[in-house]
Amino acid sequence: MTILEVKDLKQYFRINRKFTVRAVDGVTFEIKKGQTFGLVGESGSGKSTIGRSIIRLYDPTGGELIFNGQNISGKLTLEQNKLVRTKMQMIFQDPMACLNPRKKVLDIIAEGLEIHKLYESTAERDEKVYAILEKVGLCADHANRYPHQFSGGQRQRIGIARALIMEPDLIIADEAISALDVSIQAQVVNLMKKIQEETNTAFLFIAHDLSMVKYISDVIGVLHLGHIVEMGSKEEIFANPIHPYTQSLLTAIPSPNPRIERNKRAKSFDYDTSGIDYNVGEKRLVDGTHYVLATEAEYKKWVG
Ligand code: ADP
Ligand code: MG
Repeated sequence: MTILEVKDLKQYFRINRKFTVRAVDGVTFEIKKGQTFGLVGESGSGKSTIGRSIIRLYDPTGGELIFNGQNISGKLTLEQNKLVRTKMQMIFQDPMACLNPRKKVLDIIAEGLEIHKLYESTAERDEKVYAILEKVGLCADHANRYPHQFSGGQRQRIGIARALIMEPDLIIADEAISALDVSIQAQVVNLMKKIQEETNTAFLFIAHDLSMVKYISDVIGVLHLGHIVEMGSKEEIFANPIHPYTQSLLTAIPSPNPRIERNKRAKSFDYDTSGIDYNVGEKRLVDGTHYVLATEAEYKKWVG
């Protein structure tokens, strides 16, 4: 079952009379129930804008967003607004920045329940918070502490708990682990995986490199300059990357084997000198569920 369909999404920002930033320029993908879609691309490629458009912080310039079978791309009805605010949740990069320092963890986690009046009694609310704390590897004792009393990894768990308590159908994690130490990143990724297995929540996992996307994603979309240049299952992307931009991202992942690492030739990709125009290319089927954005000539050249 498809939870989210993004069809030809465009999000433009008008800077002045002469200049408009095409942050997202015709992006199409879907996320199925219980699936993780990894959206990867360098800084400025439009990842956060896609996330923010989906949760409707912006009015999309063009295209359609279908969430749980409902078209949520236009003006939202009260009911649709509630659907978007409760059944989609976001986890951000810097948990400290979005956790209110004067609020206890209990109140931070329960905030969504408060806003949408999703409990009958205070006892029921607190029980829900304790249960979620346990699910994310914290404990009931933590509920009465303040955000600054936690480590970065723990604060990210609080961020996850805050999202999870709403029982969302989709969690958008926007570079949620990028600021953490690598060992802590792995722990948080494992936690997200575990939660996904238990709850069947779909994830849009946004990252600027492929190193963690590799562990968590079922499907990967490679974003560059507002265009998805390649998309496919994790296996398809890793076994047979076609687009030069995807290849450059793959060679950027450090290998644990020093011999391979030493002999690796970094593939760099520069759009401006590449002769490629993303607006001219079309989505071409490589095979299975694997697609690449290319003109016929580019495709022939890359596939060999
Ligand atoms: P990413 O998350 O991949 O780093 P963003 O989605 O934040 O990329 O930004 C994509 C592009 O859109 C960048 O060029 C950025 O400067 C621009 N941009 C993002 N938000 C706005 C905005 N509100 N107004 C104008 N330009 C924006
Ligand atoms: Mg971003």
